[in-house]
Amino acid sequence: MEALYGMTDDQRAILETVRKFAQEFVAPRVAALDANKDPLDCFSWEIIEKSHELGIRTMTLEEQWGGLGLDSLTTAMVVEELGKVDLGTSVVLAQTFKIAQIMQLALNEEQKQRVLPVFANDPRGVLAIGMTEPGNGSDKHMSFPVPFATSAERVEGGWRVNGMKHFISNGNRASWYMVMVQTDRKKTMQDGATCFLIERGHPGFTIGRVHDKMGERLANNAELVFQDCFIPDANVVGKLGESNAVFANFSPMSNAYAGASVLGVATALYNKSVEWAQLRVQGGKPIIEHDGIRAQLGEMRMLIDASRAYVHRAAYLADHRELGWDATLGMLPKAMAAQAAWKIATWTLEIHGGYGYMKEFGVEKLVRDAAAFLHSDGVNRTLFLKAAKSMFRI
Ligand SMILES: Cc1cc2nc3c(=O)[nH]c(=O)nc-3n(C[C@H](O)[C@H](O)[C@H](O)COP(=O)(O)OP(=O)(O)OC[C@H]3O[C@@H](n4cnc5c(N)ncnc54)[C@H](O)[C@@H]3O)c2cc1C
Repeated sequence: MEALYGMTDDQRAILETVRKFAQEFVAPRVAALDANKDPLDCFSWEIIEKSHELGIRTMTLEEQWGGLGLDSLTTAMVVEELGKVDLGTSVVLAQTFKIAQIMQLALNEEQKQRVLPVFANDPRGVLAIGMTEPGNGSDKHMSFPVPFATSAERVEGGWRVNGMKHFISNGNRASWYMVMVQTDRKKTMQDGATCFLIERGHPGFTIGRVHDKMGERLANNAELVFQDCFIPDANVVGKLGESNAVFANFSPMSNAYAGASVLGVATALYNKSVEWAQLRVQGGKPIIEHDGIRAQLGEMRMLIDASRAYVHRAAYLADHRELGWDATLGMLPKAMAAQAAWKIATWTLEIHGGYGYMKEFGVEKLVRDAAAFLHSDGVNRTLFLKAAKSMFRI
């Protein structure tokens, strides 16, 4: 169950480093961090600092900025490898990987010089993207013609921003943020919002509540609060009113990485099912020898392999759009992987019988994690509708 068409030597070496980090450094810390009551205590700087030391944190930066210049397919493989050990860790780094990629595509030269070397050398450098608001969730995916509530007024030399984003991954941990803000309130979020680059600690920009999540707990999500926050013109990314153009380059890999993260959880669940089916004896033999159980394991394997092939195709074509990328690949692979993971989660519970429901067997944490991507990166239903819109133009 590897990559779609095998792997290069470089990919194997990178994955070996990531696997070692995930299994030897992250895995022993996961259960205790996940069990903490306060979401702030679930996050570990130690893990991020170690990922920095190993060169993982900055893998998607080009070599000129101190990274490896990883392509999107290899990044998806890395993200899945992390997801096999812990979804939260995978998400913290996947967000950072993809926002670093979009920064290299979207920032102007002055902005790159200002941000990328600092990010590259900061052992705690993680990144965040702020779109969702309490009143605006799926609307941004569905191109529903309404403005963002977080808006900016023109003032001398820049913009004064007021409003709030919520649910933002790495929201309380990031050093840099890309945030969508309405700069023309007479227009919609599609043609009147602008992308701003904002540094942590910028006056007028504070962190609100840190959300207490059911799963993916090693990643923090938080509110971003803007109160008369002055953002200079130098921090406008791309053109005014064209935040959509900035993020259009982002959705293909974003969706693939989200799919890869949750595929990691699906694989961890499958491995647990196989292990348990070989161990547990009922009806006088290991339950793997009962046809129903074995067939279910076969179906799990099919769902994982098919989802991975779809995610890898989307990730590869995100970098080679001239070879046949189409907009549905920016939506459907995550939805497929998330549905597969959710199915596999419930089947893993069934295969474990009552043991799966007992926390000590570790299935429960994976079930909570598997639920995260039914909504994250767009609710699946919304993504199906969005894909259909691109297919039928209605
Ligand atoms: C773990 C996690 C991490 C996240 N990280 C980030 C982040 O880093 N940055 C960020 O900006 N956001 C982030 N989000 C927010 C996420 O993108 C939104 O939660 C998602 O887009 C859905 O918005 P909503 O929660 O407001 O749901 P809603 O939009 O309120 O949807 C509720 C239900 O209504 C359905 N629905 C909505 N509109 C339609 C329609 N037109 N037709 C039919 N059905 C519809 C939806 O499919 C869904 O079933 C994250 C969310 C989670 C859970």
